[in-house]
Amino acid sequence: MTPHAAAARPAVIRKAITGGIAPNLIDYAATRASFSWESARAQLDGMRGGGLNIAHEAVERHAQGVRRNQTAFRFLSVSGVRREVSYAELSQLTNRFANVLRALGVGRGDRVFLLCTRVPELYIAALGALKNGSVVSPLFSAFGPEPIATRVNLGEGAVLVTTASLYRRKVEKIRAQMPTLKQVLLITEEAVSADIPGTLDLGELMAQASETFETVATAPDDMALLHFTSGTTGRPKGAVHVHNAVVTHHATGRYALDLQPEDVFWCTADPGWVTGMSYGIIAPLLHGVTSVVDEGEFDAAHWYRILAEERVSVWYTAPTAIRMLMKAGAELARAQALPSLRFIASVGEPLNPEAVWWGQDVFGMPIHDNWWQTETGGIMISNFAAMDVKPGSMGLPLPGVEASIVRRDEKSGAVTVIDTPGVQGELALKTGWPSMFRGYLHEEERYRKCFAGGFYLTGDLAMRDADGYFWFVGRADDVIKSAGHLIGPFEVESALMEHPAVAEAGVIGKPDPVAGEVVKAFVSLKAGYVSSEALRMELLGHARKKLGAAVAPKEIAFLASLPRTRSGKIMRRLLKARELGLPEGDLSTLESGA
Ligand code: AMP
Repeated sequence: MTPHAAAARPAVIRKAITGGIAPNLIDYAATRASFSWESARAQLDGMRGGGLNIAHEAVERHAQGVRRNQTAFRFLSVSGVRREVSYAELSQLTNRFANVLRALGVGRGDRVFLLCTRVPELYIAALGALKNGSVVSPLFSAFGPEPIATRVNLGEGAVLVTTASLYRRKVEKIRAQMPTLKQVLLITEEAVSADIPGTLDLGELMAQASETFETVATAPDDMALLHFTSGTTGRPKGAVHVHNAVVTHHATGRYALDLQPEDVFWCTADPGWVTGMSYGIIAPLLHGVTSVVDEGEFDAAHWYRILAEERVSVWYTAPTAIRMLMKAGAELARAQALPSLRFIASVGEPLNPEAVWWGQDVFGMPIHDNWWQTETGGIMISNFAAMDVKPGSMGLPLPGVEASIVRRDEKSGAVTVIDTPGVQGELALKTGWPSMFRGYLHEEERYRKCFAGGFYLTGDLAMRDADGYFWFVGRADDVIKSAGHLIGPFEVESALMEHPAVAEAGVIGKPDPVAGEVVKAFVSLKAGYVSSEALRMELLGHARKKLGAAVAPKEIAFLASLPRTRSGKIMRRLLKARELGLPEGDLSTLESGA
């Protein structure tokens, strides 16, 4: 059964292996049967005393070996500068950064936050901090001051690496509100003075630091990465990831992205989000391939030029970007010959069957959807290079990953597996894969609630068909997915309520043909305030200033009052149903009169 089958298109895109480069995974059933996480781990070096460090596997393993002169990163700056960094150079640069941290007294387990666009220093700092045994937490550069302060405080950030301009715009005013932050290291920028009190010039420190460093032999279960993700209520959740995640990064790079030694790989995700870290930094390096990093924002013609000029062979992108490329037209797509391109994958939100077919039409290959989330640390369900693709489906679980559709009993918490094809339930994963998150920082109870009956419960609704392919249905909660990024309605509501005119706020995701969803806020006003276009614009501006463009609402509507449950919770579900003209569902808990 194909719930989202495109009209007049076959339900399956058949794959045939026709010479050329053989995919890493050819026989899914056989690979799955013989796979073990122990053997996947054995493909990595490890460190003395049973240690494991992501940066050693990603950088040192190649810097000391035959791939030392291979380009690790090819950085394309917005000003048109192209900088190639080999594995050997990456080793030296990351050693320098690790020495900078050590000299500042920043050690094992200390949290290093990164706030910048896709500049080389971001990559060097992330890997150097891991070498030092420190924990890396990336922040999206489009965040406003509030999301930055919230995350640095939750994560007890000791160091922030940023640029002078971002510091001035977003951090300076809130610096006093981040008491754990000991050091701010500023990336040297042309035309912006880095001479700001309370900060250090990273360029100078790097120049003085030694380029030799012995990578800390972290334990596999030591915290390595802290990724913030959004929930429905309360504060963002700090998902804790450990060095052992590298085993999943390596195995998924091999099977789901089909990375092979001569590939030029381009992951378009920003390292401020988990995809940009796991697959924009770590996985390609583990395979010793060359990664293209483009600092610029989306631009269809520019993207096609990158694919052509950099001879990208494996491209990992997202549905919003694909929909924007589709909008720009097939002609533009076909204007460049892309003889090197051999595999395209996408993640982050539902990928429409039309988009999968569009890939087939304009590039001669389907877009391969895959599924995972911040908590899983790596790809869990995927369409593989050698396998038939059912457009609209997320594919099959990775070897080593057991995915099921389950039903959770609200009262007892008991979990029942649904075996019947086509029946919806919650997507659940058997615990035990190496990159599983190990906690929500300081929130043991919230973490515990994600598990039952030996499963991690993902919060996504899905179904499985008779061939075992998984199909995404929707989220089980109110979290918004806009342009591939999770946005917690509570964070947006809280910022709106800080405006003196706002009495209450309710925030929903409104379907959008390009971004998947856009953030829409409903507000009611305090006595003495009257709704007007001027106030609406003021609130939009207020939210943007506090939250940043990536999180702030795109639309605001005024309501006399917001629908609430008898226990006082805003009924976002009802706001959404009313917005979309859908049935209002069970209103038994609605406060009368709302
Ligand atoms: P994040 O933790 O920000 O990576 O977001 C994870 C969420 O994005 C998942 O729980 C899904 O709701 C959604 N998601 C990720 N990949 C897909 C996909 N291939 N199809 C549908 N939804 C997806």
